[in-house]
Amino acid sequence: MGARVATALDAPEVASGGPVVARRCWLVAPEEHRDGTVGLVLTGMLGFPWREPTLDAKCLETEPARHLGGPGEMERHHRVVPDPDCTCGIRAADPTADLPRPPRGRPFATGFVALTGRVLRHGGLLRAQRASIVGPLTLHLGRPPLALAPFLRTARPPRPLRVAVDAGSLRVRWGWGADRAADWLHRAAASLAARYHVEVLAS
Ligand SMILES: [Zn+2]
Repeated sequence: MGARVATALDAPEVASGGPVVARRCWLVAPEEHRDGTVGLVLTGMLGFPWREPTLDAKCLETEPARHLGGPGEMERHHRVVPDPDCTCGIRAADPTADLPRPPRGRPFATGFVALTGRVLRHGGLLRAQRASIVGPLTLHLGRPPLALAPFLRTARPPRPLRVAVDAGSLRVRWGWGADRAADWLHRAAASLAARYHVEVLAS
């Protein structure tokens, strides 16, 4: 019981009369449409897609979270998500807290969300039952591959050149040459703005 109480104290529920404003980071991923065209969708860091501006959390915990009766019996879905003893819920950060750093070589977006329903706090990190993208979002081309990092402080640093679909995700190609990434950035910002109905800035 002691551990349970400590966990609950670590994650107090945010008492709020209205939405909690927080920041998040998303990867930008390709999404193939039925007509063969490819659009863009925001996803979580592990690839969970945000197909609409508002996302409702579900508990996708597949580990044996808690034994109920005997061996093999487990509770996977809570009555209310997020559960203090689980990892479920939509992650976001206080507006002043640091965001997770996305993988190198991947385009990503940062921006504001409004959290509603149940919201749990772990220091500067929040887990919410529901999140709506309220914008503005900023689209980034991200950091170069580690192999190119030493060249960034040279007289001719590598630049993001283009964005390509590779094995179902988007990769930013870095190097020295004609810059077509800036054009992609502005088209992608317009596409995401239309999809999520928010302002999207190209960084
Ligand atoms: Zn859960």
